[in-house]
Amino acid sequence: MSKYEFQTEVSDLLNLMIHSLYSNKEIFLRELVSNSSDALDKLNYLTLTEDSYKKLEYTPRIDIKFNKDDKTLTISDTGIGMDKDDLVNNLGTIAKSGTKNFLSQLSGDVKKDSNLIGQFGVGFYSAFMVADKVEVLTKKALSENAYLWSSDAKSYTIVDSKKDSHGTSITLYLKDDEFLNEYRLENIIKKYSNHIPYPIFMDKSEYIPAQKEGEEGKTEVKNTQVNRASALWRMQKNALKDEDYNDFYKQISYDDNDPLLYIHTKAEGKIEYTSLFYIPSKEPFDLYRVDYQSGVKLYVKRVFITDDEKELLPTYLRFVKGVLDVEDLPLNVSREILQDNIIMRSVKEASVKKILSELEKLKNNDREKYIKFYILFGNVLKEGLYGFGENKEDILNLVMFKSSKRDGLITLKEYKEAMKDDQKEIYYITGKNYNSLKDSPILENFKKKDIEVLICDSEIDSIVMPMVYEFDKTPIKPASQAKFDDKEKIDESKYTELVAKIKEAIKDEVKDVKVTNRLNDSPACIVYDENDPDFSTQQILKQMGQTDLPEIKPILEINPDHEIIKKLENDKLMLNDVSKILLDIAKVQAGMNIENPNEFAKILNSIIAKAL
Ligand code: ADP
Ligand code: MG
Repeated sequence: MSKYEFQTEVSDLLNLMIHSLYSNKEIFLRELVSNSSDALDKLNYLTLTEDSYKKLEYTPRIDIKFNKDDKTLTISDTGIGMDKDDLVNNLGTIAKSGTKNFLSQLSGDVKKDSNLIGQFGVGFYSAFMVADKVEVLTKKALSENAYLWSSDAKSYTIVDSKKDSHGTSITLYLKDDEFLNEYRLENIIKKYSNHIPYPIFMDKSEYIPAQKEGEEGKTEVKNTQVNRASALWRMQKNALKDEDYNDFYKQISYDDNDPLLYIHTKAEGKIEYTSLFYIPSKEPFDLYRVDYQSGVKLYVKRVFITDDEKELLPTYLRFVKGVLDVEDLPLNVSREILQDNIIMRSVKEASVKKILSELEKLKNNDREKYIKFYILFGNVLKEGLYGFGENKEDILNLVMFKSSKRDGLITLKEYKEAMKDDQKEIYYITGKNYNSLKDSPILENFKKKDIEVLICDSEIDSIVMPMVYEFDKTPIKPASQAKFDDKEKIDESKYTELVAKIKEAIKDEVKDVKVTNRLNDSPACIVYDENDPDFSTQQILKQMGQTDLPEIKPILEINPDHEIIKKLENDKLMLNDVSKILLDIAKVQAGMNIENPNEFAKILNSIIAKAL
């Protein structure tokens, strides 16, 4: 007999399972059944692809049995099984970097946390929420040797053992009677495991009514299949209810909430495939993490291939969960094939088109629901506008914006419909804060002319909006680059001397100083050269790690009609100080930092003192 200590992380995790997460204990069964289902998937795949496994006798099934006297519950499968190394590696250590992440994600909300158990690949250990002792009897397919792994959560032992056929049988020595009840067990199986593709059998008592008058009815125990075990996505749409779709979603997503939308497609043209996609009604915890998990499982002819392939959908659709089942691929598809294969490529393209077009429908038919979707995932969707991505047109139809004139969110189409007759362009302004953007000096002229501006206050806007040049043949431009030709031209030559002096005073901080007709109430504002990234874009580029960005200075534009500028022409003494203050104020209004706040305070104080 060999005795082993658990890896430290496993011990920590076990403590956590036993002492904190136990209030949603029933999920242990979901986890053990899902491991059995995985083990059946693995063997299923091998028997279909590897010659040495083809002769193996293999009837995929899971059996659940309990014994009230011993207080034991046993979950058995006819799957791949484990050898000694597998036992040590899989049930004594945590190979994936998963646990650390798992521990850092715990929120204290027990329901949420117990869903994380499944997502982080630490499901097996949840057995210790309900059992003081766990035994794993297992024999690997094609191997002669069986082993018994046994643990009390403190350490574990492995001994040689006997088992008739390949597969794994896990026996839990339960802490109490709660799960020694067929109705309870059946309910849990139906709730979490109804649609795993393999049958789950259980001894169920069935009442047989009396056959003849005078006789009594009796109860018979029968080994009965308790789950549906259907590849739900292969069933006919009209045989399925919303409830079936929702249950299946919960099973594959570890999300307790109903999805916002499901999209079930059966393609029967040149390329045959079935897809069932879901859009969650809640933000997945890893939506904005680089190591987010793919939500789409790939099957080939109903055989599970992978749930770890992020390229199945573009990253801007990473919130989508579901199943993709392709007919005309070999079962032993490699990662390379997945990425380059022409069939796979058209399945992906068609899937993306389908999802986008269903979102378009939702937008047109159920605005309220669409807004709900958009608030959750709109910023992720907007990532699809990056660069020269495909489907930009479709995405442009779906994205929404805040507006300088209206409450809520509007689409580009709605913006266009409300455009003035003589307005030729769509305008937007980017930055961090909705209120300060709305009141930005840049928009003064727009307000006066009653022209709507899209207020782009999310980070992704600052990155993608400069990459969007037009919508439906109408150019899209930053508000700072709008040129209004109707207003009487300013005679710039009148201000050459003043401009030169202001420029001299702040020459280290600006690229240029210009007179402008874009302002009404403010004396000055900051803009960027047409080809320079604006301030918010620069900041995000830096955040994304572009540290070699050269310093890009703004342009200070002054309003010649403003009282301050007019007086400045005749006040040579104050010109230096006032120029600096004008620049600093314009910077603050643009959401930037002041270079030297102490100098700013000093100058402003002295100006106040003079004014009083
Ligand atoms: P995950 O299922 O995410 O890998 P678990 O903690 O649930 O994490 O299981 C750990 C590992 O133990 C599995 O990956 C698998 O290799 C092995 N394992 C668990 N249960 C079984 C089983 N019934 N048959 C074969 N292997 C199993
Ligand atoms: Mg598992």
